[in-house]
Amino acid sequence: MRLNGLTTFSIVACTGNMVNMKKDNKKSVYLLLLLIVGLMIALFVYSVNITKKDYFVSIGKQAMNFSLITSDNVNLSNSEVERLIALDFEELLEDETNIVFENQTRRLMRSLDIKYIYMIHQLDDKQTRYLVTDEDEEDFGLPAGTRLNTIYLLDSVVDIETRLKDTDYQGYTDKDRYTYLQEEIQQIYDKREPDYLFYKDKWGTYITGFSPVYSTEGNYIGMLGADIYISEYTNFVDQRGIFLVVFCLLILILICAMLRIYKKNLLIEAIVDNLNSKVYYDEITGLYNRTMLKEQKDRYRDFSIEKEMTVAALMIDIDSFKGINDKYGHLKGDEIITTISHIIKSELQGNGQAFRYGGDELMILFLNNELDEIQAIAERIRSKVNKISFPDIKEEITVSIGIAFKDQNREIDFITLMKNADDMMYMSKEKGGNCVSLYNV
Ligand code: GH3
Ligand code: MG
Repeated sequence: MRLNGLTTFSIVACTGNMVNMKKDNKKSVYLLLLLIVGLMIALFVYSVNITKKDYFVSIGKQAMNFSLITSDNVNLSNSEVERLIALDFEELLEDETNIVFENQTRRLMRSLDIKYIYMIHQLDDKQTRYLVTDEDEEDFGLPAGTRLNTIYLLDSVVDIETRLKDTDYQGYTDKDRYTYLQEEIQQIYDKREPDYLFYKDKWGTYITGFSPVYSTEGNYIGMLGADIYISEYTNFVDQRGIFLVVFCLLILILICAMLRIYKKNLLIEAIVDNLNSKVYYDEITGLYNRTMLKEQKDRYRDFSIEKEMTVAALMIDIDSFKGINDKYGHLKGDEIITTISHIIKSELQGNGQAFRYGGDELMILFLNNELDEIQAIAERIRSKVNKISFPDIKEEITVSIGIAFKDQNREIDFITLMKNADDMMYMSKEKGGNCVSLYNV
């Protein structure tokens, strides 16, 4: 079908209206989808946090149990503690006591992914050897001049390679054996009870299990700490955040694509609706046209042979219309046909279907309406048309109407029914017009 400028314009206008009408729906769809994505993100973040928390608690308990088991195997006398404090870091690593401690702990360390296990012991001011300097302020996170009051009394690493790697193959300096306890660790140290803690320092991110150690004489000599490293796990959790962002982006792209398709479908639907209205409706009167009549014929044909239904055809023709047309012009004529069509539509009120049969001939088909009902409608149409008055038209405007009616329990071919209606319309003309004639099958 070729579309001229006007038609194309009306399609676009109509399409615009329909799209506008559905814009609100689209907005709600956007909001709903946004809400779903938001909920998904919130749920995901919540689940990650729960998992992380559960994970930390379980690792913490493992670390604590491990330090408890290990602390039971440490048997140091008070004098042995004093002797160990006096050693420098190199001497400690080669000392028999530390070697035995390291050998005892390594097997368990490997099985639990623990890198370090050590005993921390707090020194008197007299015993401290090092202060935080300007250079290592950042490493310790403490102001220069702070006294490093804690010593790693015993120190075990899972293997030599790890010890070398963690010191960039430089080995430890003696100062590396001294530290200053953060507030939370200090509290555990002072409480002297098994506990665990999550923390980060220059050596990494880990959960440390603590348990108190007593000398053979029964003196509290420090805390045994076991570090389980969790950097890899936290990396994994962080990466899940990236996966989440990518996942959400993909969903958004999918949603956008779906909305584009939805929008296109709306346009197509609007165009098809508009074309349908062009195909099935008469442009001047707004009634159905002959194309629609052809499509409907089959429907009425079936019912016209079916005994339980009434079927009726009503043919309406404007009387002496040619004369009016010639006198007042085609535009005026169009106005008259349109006015008559409006009267027909308003009288039908959902009963029957009205068609423009051609020229000044209009037609109504009824299914399952009673005869007196149809006659009343026809009479009202005739009378209302007769009352039409145009200031510039002197002549009366009238219509001739023919009705062909098939009652229940009767059969008639639909074409014959239409022909009968046409004959009745001509009979009305012969009677002088402005009347209704009936053929009852
Ligand atoms: P009759 O009472 O026998 O029906 O007389 P008539 O003049 O109405 O009959 P006729 O069939 O000779 O003329 C029908 C006229 O209807 C011819 C034409 O001028 C007019 N007509 C047909 N289609 C249109 C239309 O679309 N617009 C207008 N304005 N006039 C139309
Ligand atoms: Mg006519």
